[in-house]
Amino acid sequence: MRRAIKSATKAEKAYQEAARALGCVVCRWRFAAGLQRGIGCGPTRIHHRNVGDLHGQKQIGQHAVVALGDWHHQGIPLPGRTGRQMYAIYGPSFQQQAREFRTWTQEALPGMGRGTEAWQAYQDQLLQQTAPKDEAA
Ligand SMILES: [Zn+2]
Repeated sequence: MRRAIKSATKAEKAYQEAARALGCVVCRWRFAAGLQRGIGCGPTRIHHRNVGDLHGQKQIGQHAVVALGDWHHQGIPLPGRTGRQMYAIYGPSFQQQAREFRTWTQEALPGMGRGTEAWQAYQDQLLQQTAPKDEAA
């Protein structure tokens, strides 16, 4: 059973909204790397990271979140696509191809942590780049 965590503070909510506004961070990385073009992998959700990246484990907290589209998050295909087609275009998903996703993440984001930890670090880089200049000062 999923253990409940505290609800998000105002600052945590703001962080989650900023992350969600980026869209799926895995898609963003793949667009930037030239691996993917066109539309993202589905509606963007805020994934609450679990201890050890294991489903059913305790959630780390409201600060430990990653914005992921439905394919990269849960392996849910876009309308009119099969899972096989999605895999060919978008690569592995965190939930459906967990082991491959972890291995691929280490190649994509070396030295940035493991699994969703690395994707959150990448997300934070993107957020810093998009931060308004007056707030960055
Ligand atoms: Zn995606």
